[in-house]
Amino acid sequence: MGEKNCGKELKDKLLFKRKNAWTEFNENEKNIAFEMCEGYKAFLDKAKTEREFTNEAELLAIAHGFKSFDEIVKSKMKITDGMKLYQANRGKSVILCVVGKEPLENGINILGAHIDSPRLDLKQNPVYEDNEIVFLKTHYYGGIKKYQWVTIPLALHGVVIKTDGTVVNVKLGEDDNDMVFTITDLLPHIAVDQMKKNMSEAITGEDLNIIFGSIPFDDEIDERVKLNVLQLLNAKYGITEEDFTSAELEIVPAFKARDVGFDRSMVGAYGQDDRVCAYTSLKAILDVDNTDKTALCILIDKEEIGSVGNTSAQSAFLEGFISNLLILSGEGKDELIKSQCLLNSRMLSADVNAAVDPNYGDVQDKKNAVYIGKGIAIQKYTGSMGKLGANDSNPEFVAEFRKILNENRIPWQAGEFGKVDLGGGSTIAKFAANLGIDVIDCGVPVLSMHSPFEITSKIDIYATYNAYKSFLLY
Ligand code: MN
Ligand code: MN
Repeated sequence: MGEKNCGKELKDKLLFKRKNAWTEFNENEKNIAFEMCEGYKAFLDKAKTEREFTNEAELLAIAHGFKSFDEIVKSKMKITDGMKLYQANRGKSVILCVVGKEPLENGINILGAHIDSPRLDLKQNPVYEDNEIVFLKTHYYGGIKKYQWVTIPLALHGVVIKTDGTVVNVKLGEDDNDMVFTITDLLPHIAVDQMKKNMSEAITGEDLNIIFGSIPFDDEIDERVKLNVLQLLNAKYGITEEDFTSAELEIVPAFKARDVGFDRSMVGAYGQDDRVCAYTSLKAILDVDNTDKTALCILIDKEEIGSVGNTSAQSAFLEGFISNLLILSGEGKDELIKSQCLLNSRMLSADVNAAVDPNYGDVQDKKNAVYIGKGIAIQKYTGSMGKLGANDSNPEFVAEFRKILNENRIPWQAGEFGKVDLGGGSTIAKFAANLGIDVIDCGVPVLSMHSPFEITSKIDIYATYNAYKSFLLY
């Protein structure tokens, strides 16, 4: 008996074991987790696009006493510790910052998450008529399984910019009284040929056409159904067909975020990659008041298409913000100080990880994969097939982060995407790392990732929020 007990003790001491996060938190904490997810679901319903997320984040920032950094730059006001600042970039990415007591040269604690999600974008000439039905042509954005986007209710969100600069905001399909849109599919009885195709060919990109209208204009002319739809659009929004050229209109699932499971332990919603980490990051920075190190949260666009463009993680947005912060805080224009600031900065690349799906158990190395309900997932390196394109975090920084998690009793697990030769992914981490910042990927494990209805665990969301906030305050 004695020897057996001894072995168990030794095992507890020496072996790492993933813990079920539900048993790691007490009843009170679990209630807080459930409550937090009510706010999270409501936020998801309000912010289904990067523009909507940026807008909501700005409103929350202002409500929490954050001041416009654009105004401060304009007035050259001096920046002092305790100040809270926000700056949006073209309405599609945003930085929130709480200035700390220590000099910026000592580094900044940064949370970075992306707020774009896979979807269908309208093409530049989207409207066409076929057999007296009007459709909208789309070009998908990011990695989707095309067959998942047919026969579900879809909403249309975005902006149309007219040549005089007028911004027309469009949001259709969210109100219970709104119409919705959809993409049709064949009846099984006549789909014999289609059913023989493989899943990536059965529905093609050019098949993803949105059904949009079917009443003809009352005149015997060509394209009379299209004309009727354009007339309705003109009456509601004052737009013509040409205006679609300068639009950013996105097709997203029309359904709302819901509890999943009889025990209500999970959240099902569109766009949780990466809004689950963006929301918890945003909440963490909003809840920060007095810090020694300056705390910053950057919510960024275009991750799903490779972080390219002037609203992406590869843009000069973050670096420019830090430069201006250094100048206005009186630490100077010196490149020397800026590079010290960047080298001393630490960042959590707040992004989701693919959870093990017991229905598809063969695609991951289960010893090195993550699971829903087992806490925040940390991923030392990303990339695929030989760590190509990876951010590989420095172990010194990983150790530091592990210490923060353990000291704050936050359940965590470490893992990577798929099996070594089966593929992987990358995040915004490497672009921050290129600036000299120490960075690691960490976030919420997700089931059915990149699908119209992604699943997360409420307890992981709570653990992740705690991890992000503890990191900002470290
Ligand atoms: Mn992501
Ligand atoms: Mn993604």
